[in-house]
Amino acid sequence: MDYKATENIQDLQYFGEFGGVNPSISDSSTYTFISAKTMFDTFEGNTEGCYLYSRHSSPSNLYLGEAMAQLEGTEAANVFASGMGAISSVIFQLCDSDEHIVCSRTIYGGTYAFLKNFVKKFNISTSFVDITNLEMVEKSITAKTKMIYCEAISNPLLEVADIKALSKLAKKHGIPLVVDNTFSPLNINAAKLGADIVVHSLTKFINGSSDCVAGAVCASIEFCLSLKDVNDGAGMLMGSTLDSLRAASILKNMRTLHIRIKKHSENAFYLAKQFEKDGLKVVYPGLESHPGHEIMKSQMNKEYGFGGLLTLDVGSVEKANALMELMQKEKLGYLAVSLGFYKTLFSASGTSTSSEIPMEEQEELGLSQGLIRFSIGLDNDIHSTYSSMRKCMEMLDILENNTTLV
Ligand SMILES: *Cc1c(COP(=O)(O)O)cnc(C)c1O
Repeated sequence: MDYKATENIQDLQYFGEFGGVNPSISDSSTYTFISAKTMFDTFEGNTEGCYLYSRHSSPSNLYLGEAMAQLEGTEAANVFASGMGAISSVIFQLCDSDEHIVCSRTIYGGTYAFLKNFVKKFNISTSFVDITNLEMVEKSITAKTKMIYCEAISNPLLEVADIKALSKLAKKHGIPLVVDNTFSPLNINAAKLGADIVVHSLTKFINGSSDCVAGAVCASIEFCLSLKDVNDGAGMLMGSTLDSLRAASILKNMRTLHIRIKKHSENAFYLAKQFEKDGLKVVYPGLESHPGHEIMKSQMNKEYGFGGLLTLDVGSVEKANALMELMQKEKLGYLAVSLGFYKTLFSASGTSTSSEIPMEEQEELGLSQGLIRFSIGLDNDIHSTYSSMRKCMEMLDILENNTTLV
């Protein structure tokens, strides 16, 4: 059957208590029971549709969870207080002490720090591999490996994971493939391509208004229930619960995700093409020069484009900083981490969101100090944005081997 995430999300209807077009917000931490027996059964997980305590679940969180499940095409989804809350819960749910993870070496800095430093406390070890090298990935799998973990489009290098191939490999070894799809909601349906568990930071494109942090895990009903288990569920017991008011506001913002993603992609693609023509070192999955371009084309939903992220290597951290400060002064965007905002956001990854990765390792990955990550905004006139950005670059002599202005 043809899978249409947008239509599926829009067909989800929840009316408010008084027939409102938006669902009522659940404004309670605890819920009453008429019978003590039902309360006991709810604790045991035997009652559908009964709420117990909002760390376990709440109506607003369930609505957002259902929308996330529709987005990824999974049976179910749980929401969390942050992307890291979602990611850490998945890792602790799947791994016991002395077990092992095979993980892409280019991932979000927080996830990297969690896997490299934090889970050591529990004797969980991680092999960081080049995820585009399937042979390497397979060689790293041992009897103790509990998952393959990667990002659909990686942060900040924008490597494209071959989700179909990785899923085959994971199946062969009887382990789940966990994909962080934060950079490419709607662009890539990771679960449809074979990912067993899809995690998201809702903080970014999905919420899109940079006003809160939140996360989600999209997976089978069985796995989502296990995360909420009162006895051994990592989501339930580590307590990174999303507040209902936030869940409601994120759900409302999700209604326009398809329009925003198209515009982010359109603007980013335009800038990437222009920068490439200018002879700049630009990385964008939509460019033929991108090593993952063909894989991206084969696994993307064409109508949503190649995503809103691009990187530009301007040679040195000094130049990167000067350019970002100037662009901010010219109101072209904000010098800020994060992504998915209506305004363009830029940061030098090596000294910000990836600073958890030691310098030598950054170099090995190809993460140079002059690399600026751009989350391209919803600018109405991207042509004028481009000419203003170009002027900034000219002022800073970034366009040495420049071509003529088009
Ligand atoms: C931001 C981000 C996270 C972490 O999400 P938070 O909501 O900040 O906890 C995880 N993965 C990726 C790819 C991200 O960009």
